[in-house]
Amino acid sequence: MPSKSTPRVPPQASRFRRRLLAWFRRHGRELPWRNTRDPYRVLVSEVMLQQTQVSRVEQFYPRFLDRFPTLRHLAEARPGLVREEWDGLGYYRRAANLHRLAREVIARHDGRIPAGVDELRLLPGVGAYTAGAVASFAFERAVPAVDTNVARVLRRAFHPRLGKGAHGARTLWATAAAILPARGKAAWAFNQAIMELGALVCTARVARCGACPVVEVCATGKRQQSTVTATAPPTPAPSPRAAR
Ligand code: SF4
Repeated sequence: MPSKSTPRVPPQASRFRRRLLAWFRRHGRELPWRNTRDPYRVLVSEVMLQQTQVSRVEQFYPRFLDRFPTLRHLAEARPGLVREEWDGLGYYRRAANLHRLAREVIARHDGRIPAGVDELRLLPGVGAYTAGAVASFAFERAVPAVDTNVARVLRRAFHPRLGKGAHGARTLWATAAAILPARGKAAWAFNQAIMELGALVCTARVARCGACPVVEVCATGKRQQSTVTATAPPTPAPSPRAAR
């Protein structure tokens, strides 16, 4: 739910960005869709990742691309064949939408996936997140892409008291836009990095603040750390042996 209002840059935004990007350079996973800017390949990965875990998508993604190496191959395939190749990923509506999208891009866009968020959003099965992700990851446009991982990180870091619902979603999109680097390449890395942090460190199950690169600039992390410090037992005096 992207916001059209002028985004307010949260305090600490530049430190958050710097730390996150440095962490991602060291800890970001090698994933096949991170090594391409081919819009079709990026789009396929984003549609697969919508409701399926990364480890499962890693198995199915190359197989699907072997079978349908280009958008045109996909557009010209029989619906039954597309469904067959999607078997194992579940949520078949995604495959049907992807197939319709391929046909529409061939018919209306001369076979080229559009680069702009507004045009992308008009394609079958493409919501706000997928449009932002394709614009950023394939075309290196400096636009936000807020999925559930990103929303969780932004909420915990900048808006720990924010309610859910439409207003909450608008605020998170506005924050994502406000802290995004202005250059497309850096925005690509930032969008990948914040998703990765939500997948590996700041997860739905547990926030591993002690291992988090942005803990010092995160509202939730700072609170957790001060609670831990306040309740930690006093450090014992060194034994004579240790003191030597
Ligand atoms: S410090 Fe904790 S709450 Fe904040 S982003 Fe990191 S893991 Fe999430």
